[in-house]
Amino acid sequence: MNTHEIKAFGTNEPTSDLKEMAINRREVGVRDVEIDILFCGVCHSDLHTARNEWGGTIYPNVPGHEIVGRITKIGRDVTKFNTGDLVGVGCMVDSCRECESCKEGLEQYCEKGNIGTYNGHEKQLNQQTFGGYSERVVVDEDFVLHVPRNLDPAAAAPLLCAGITTYSPLNHWKVGPGTQVGIVGIGGLGHMGVKIAKAMGAHVVVITTSRSKKGDAQRLGADEVILSTDQDQMSKNKGRLDFILDCVSAQHDINAYLGLLKRDGSLTLVGAPEHPLPVAAFSLILSRKSFSGSMIGGIAETQEMLDFCGKHNITSDIEIIKIQDINAAYDRLLKGDVKYRFVIDMNSLKN
Ligand code: NAP
Ligand code: ZN
Ligand code: ZN
Repeated sequence: MNTHEIKAFGTNEPTSDLKEMAINRREVGVRDVEIDILFCGVCHSDLHTARNEWGGTIYPNVPGHEIVGRITKIGRDVTKFNTGDLVGVGCMVDSCRECESCKEGLEQYCEKGNIGTYNGHEKQLNQQTFGGYSERVVVDEDFVLHVPRNLDPAAAAPLLCAGITTYSPLNHWKVGPGTQVGIVGIGGLGHMGVKIAKAMGAHVVVITTSRSKKGDAQRLGADEVILSTDQDQMSKNKGRLDFILDCVSAQHDINAYLGLLKRDGSLTLVGAPEHPLPVAAFSLILSRKSFSGSMIGGIAETQEMLDFCGKHNITSDIEIIKIQDINAAYDRLLKGDVKYRFVIDMNSLKN
C-alpha cells in the first residue's frame, strides 16, 4: 500500500523526551477519510503509554487520542462525511466488527481487541498505529465522529477521550436526578465527569486531594466538595453516595472511597494506575457494594455524548500549548498542575 511521510511528535524509548519525528500514513482507502489535525488533547494515558507504564508500548510511539480536525480527502465509498467537515477521532480507529461486543456497538470491548489510535496494529501497513501528535491522520469513516458546530474545536478535543470515558459509565449506571454521585480526582477526566453528571441532573460531590480545587469544583458544577486528605470530612460523609466515578491516575486507597458509598452503591474505576489497587473484602461485603471498571465508550455512544455536549454547551477547560512544550506539560500533569486539560495547537508542528 502507498504511504506518505508526515511530521509527528513521539518517542523512541520510555525514558526519553518526545521529539519531532517522521512517520508514514497510508493513502486514503475507499472507506477512509484524511483529517488535517487542528487540536489534540493530552490524556494521562498518553504519558502512561509513552513511558511504558502499562507495559507493551511499541516504539517509536506517537501518542494522542483526543483529535479534532478538518477532512481534507475522502475515499470513493465514504457516505457519512465530506471534505471540510469538522470531525473528531478518539481512542480507537478500528475493531473486528464481527464479535458480540462489536455487533452491540461496544467496539471498545471488541473480543479481538479494539485497534487503538496509537500503539494499536494498523493492518493496512502492518505497523503500529500513530496518534494525534501529528499533522494528519487517515481513519475509516466508521470510527470518525461529527463535532457539534456550536462547540469550540480546541475545547471539544478532550471530549473524544475524557468526555466519553466519563459519560459512558455515568450513563450505564443510570446517573440522573435523585442520584448522589461522587467524582474522585479532578483532572482531565474528573472535571468532565463533574460537568456531565451535573448536566444529567445528578447531585455532584467532588472528592479531591487538592484543597486549591474547591472553588473550581463549584464553578464546574459540583454541589459539594470533600477533601479526601481530611479524615473528618471523609468520616462525616460515610455511607451516603449512590455512585462513585474514580478518575485517579496514581496509587490511592480504594477502601477509603468505597466507605463513602451507601448500601448497594457502586464505585467504577476509570483511572488506570500502573500498579494493582488492593480492595478489602469488608469494604464491599458489609453493604453489598460493587466495584467495577469502564473503558472509553463505543462509537455510537461517543456521537451521543458529543451531541449531548453540543446541546448542553459542554466543553473542557483547557490550556492550549505548542507541541514543543509537551514534555513540560507531562511533568505538570504528574504534579496535578493542569486546569484541566492541555490541548496542543497542532499548527505548532506544521510551521
Ligand atoms: P489527570 O488529568 O492527570 O488527572 C488525575 C487526577 O487524579 C489528578 O488531577 C488528581 O486529582 C488525582 N490524583 C493524582 N494522584 C493522586 C493520588 N495519589 N491520590 C488521589 N488522587 C490523585 O489524568 P486524566 O487524563 O484525567 O486520566 C486519569 C486516569 O484515567 C489515568 O490513569 C488515565 O490513564 C486513565 N484513563 C482511563 C480511560 C478509560 O477508558 N478507562 C480513559 C482515559 C484515561 P485531585 O487533585 O482532584 O485529587
Ligand atoms: Zn485518553
Ligand atoms: Zn469485535
